[in-house]
Amino acid sequence: MRTPWDSFQRETLDHLRALVRLDTTNPPGNERIAADYLGAALGRESIECVTIEPQPTRASIVARLAGRDRTRPPLMLSSHTDVVPVEASRWTREPFGAEVAQGCVWGRGAIDMKSKSAMDLCLALAIKRAGALPECDLIIAAVADEEAGSELGARYLAEHHPELIRAGHVLNETGGFTLHLGERRFYPIQVAEKGFVTVKMTVTGAPGHGSMPRADTAIAWMADLIGRITRTPMPRRLTPLMRRTLADLGIPPDKAPPLFRPMLSNTVSPTIVRAGYKDNVIPGEACVILDGRTLPGADERSFLLELREIVGPEPLLEVVKTAPPVEASHDTALFDLIKSRTEAADPGARAIPWMLPGATDSKFYAQLGATCYGFAPVRLDPRMPFGSLYHGNDERMPIDGFLWGLRLYADVVLDFLGLRMEDVFA
Ligand SMILES: [Zn+2]
Repeated sequence: MRTPWDSFQRETLDHLRALVRLDTTNPPGNERIAADYLGAALGRESIECVTIEPQPTRASIVARLAGRDRTRPPLMLSSHTDVVPVEASRWTREPFGAEVAQGCVWGRGAIDMKSKSAMDLCLALAIKRAGALPECDLIIAAVADEEAGSELGARYLAEHHPELIRAGHVLNETGGFTLHLGERRFYPIQVAEKGFVTVKMTVTGAPGHGSMPRADTAIAWMADLIGRITRTPMPRRLTPLMRRTLADLGIPPDKAPPLFRPMLSNTVSPTIVRAGYKDNVIPGEACVILDGRTLPGADERSFLLELREIVGPEPLLEVVKTAPPVEASHDTALFDLIKSRTEAADPGARAIPWMLPGATDSKFYAQLGATCYGFAPVRLDPRMPFGSLYHGNDERMPIDGFLWGLRLYADVVLDFLGLRMEDVFA
């Protein structure tokens, strides 16, 4: 049975609101409630799915619709079901209320990224209901723990159950939203993301009594180093992707606005500082956690060399955790399809390849060989910039923009699967 488009829209919005109402704040996560919810919806349509729960309550769910040609690599639609914490006192509405007001669904996860979990779910349901047969397998993954490093979600699946999620192409988060630059509109499509190198930097100095000040303490040295790190940019390097992105935008690299600067060099941010244990003792040691981010083409070694240039040879540097940058080619049929359909859906706008300065689950899918794009389309008003909604207070999804994105997303996914909109929707 084909789903009428109107009821498909209502169904997707209802699932979005129901998912927002499930509090999956990470930590602690508790993503099982979302996995159970999605599993029940898939089960009602007899779609088989597997739940993977590496620790109690930390569940991910993976469903699969068989395609006509099972030798063709699958398309995977992926989302994470955990959300970042809220400061409820700073919200004007209930963060897990999924209220509809002022044309938006309000709540944590409405943008990042239960909206895409709902779209992925409903597309699979509609395809199954219509009895349509995709060209290749379609995988739906809704995973735990993305917001805390993916250890119990995508990373766990990639290491322990790669057969469940190995795909030719993956559509994941952070791309397809409207970026307003002056009068012009762009749709960044994420094709690359930076890697990270988290470093613990330790220095030692003379300990002593707090009543006897001195300049050669660990804290004084650390303060000086942190000042240097925050004031000294790492060397600029224009990757071929960023050269193209800036050219598409008509921005000369040396005039790139602050939004783009993290994409033009490795970066480092001090995030946790520790020193001292008693108010009248000058501690002999101070340490800081440095959140380093690496451009495609860089690695741990080259990043540490750049860091040494700033901090000098003495501080002890220990790598705490690391993950490589990834970049997919944008010279593919899927990228061309995304680009042409997005530009047709918003005449006058341009879709451009994009690099995310942060990290997503795409890292782990790419390690299994997938070409990953960030494409979770939503049309945004200039008064509602993506950056302020993402992890922000009063996170909310404009319903008009969501339904616009839903149509575009369905159009792209079905076309890639060799199906027409009219095969699935009435
Ligand atoms: Zn996210």
